[in-house]
Amino acid sequence: MTSVASFWSPALRGLAPYTPGEQPVIQGLVKLNTNENPYPPSPRVIAAISAAAQQGLQLYPDPQSSGLRQAIADFHGIAAGQVFAGNGSDEVLAHAFFAFFRQGKPVLMPDISYSFYKVYCGLYGIDAGIVTLDDTMRIDVAQYRAPCGGVVIANPNAPTGTGLPLADIEQLLQQQSQCVVLVDEAYVDFGGESAIGLIDRYPNLLVVQTLSKSRSLAGLRVGFAAGQRHLIEALDTVKDSFNSYPLDRLALAGATAAYEDHAYFESTRAAVMQSREDLRRDLIDLGFEVLPSQANFLMVRHPAHDAAALAAGLREQRILVRHFRSPRIEQYLRISVGTPVQCAALVQACHALVAG
Ligand code: PMP
Repeated sequence: MTSVASFWSPALRGLAPYTPGEQPVIQGLVKLNTNENPYPPSPRVIAAISAAAQQGLQLYPDPQSSGLRQAIADFHGIAAGQVFAGNGSDEVLAHAFFAFFRQGKPVLMPDISYSFYKVYCGLYGIDAGIVTLDDTMRIDVAQYRAPCGGVVIANPNAPTGTGLPLADIEQLLQQQSQCVVLVDEAYVDFGGESAIGLIDRYPNLLVVQTLSKSRSLAGLRVGFAAGQRHLIEALDTVKDSFNSYPLDRLALAGATAAYEDHAYFESTRAAVMQSREDLRRDLIDLGFEVLPSQANFLMVRHPAHDAAALAAGLREQRILVRHFRSPRIEQYLRISVGTPVQCAALVQACHALVAG
């Protein structure tokens, strides 16, 4: 009998799709496991989405996302033609892997990084050239010199949270000037250094950002890429080949409004960064080791307590954090920074587990 799986393309067999952290269906959990923003989006975003819903959902959206591209370009001081917008940065990353990384040579990436990169490699038949983080769990750009078909790193890295200075990004761009260097800046607004200001100087630089984190819009699914026009045109070509509209009318309206409320953006990201430093101090007081973080999460371990047991203990107290069963980080927990109230609940629960 023909097995159903035989209908699958060989590329899909053995593929392990990315699994995000547990999405709670139970109300009342303290959800610190998927690095969302603990604050809602700007009220102007909600107003813009309501207005868009009333105005014309029977009509297709702008296939070019022109207004949003312009708003993003204005914010970053670049041209609208240097911006590509997609349904979350995951989709932008997928299009970028497809457009730039199919040259039969390995794409260099850290051993500990966003696990989706390996999923896309598997899907598109791209070889992943794994480069280990150094002993302090940092990316060492000097290790990225081998001949390759591209480079992808997250800066700040995920799930470690540690950022690279722009001088390191420039070294990487110069070392690998013959291929695209994709810098995923999902968390950059929480204290990292963005490479968007370098795009005019480096034709091989593609920067990807998301509105899911610092703009509180994980539920709307908006991300973008910034790079020279020849890279953006390649992404548009991939998108158009799938005949897909990048963004719907509600997402376009909400995301554009998010860029128009600078004050709200500044106040929420400052609040998250303040909570991160308060949380760092409280966890260190409880004996945790905490990696340096320029992101909205902390990567922590306790020398005397097993990470899986701690995660399970927190889960019993209705607090979700992320535990990875991957080599080198199996003794770490990744904790998203919540509101001060959520962080206090976490610290209290950790206190009961490690001191109790
Ligand atoms: N890059 C990194 C490093 C991430 O951690 C995430 C989400 N957790 C993404 C990209 C994707 O974000 P989104 O699709 O919500 O834009």
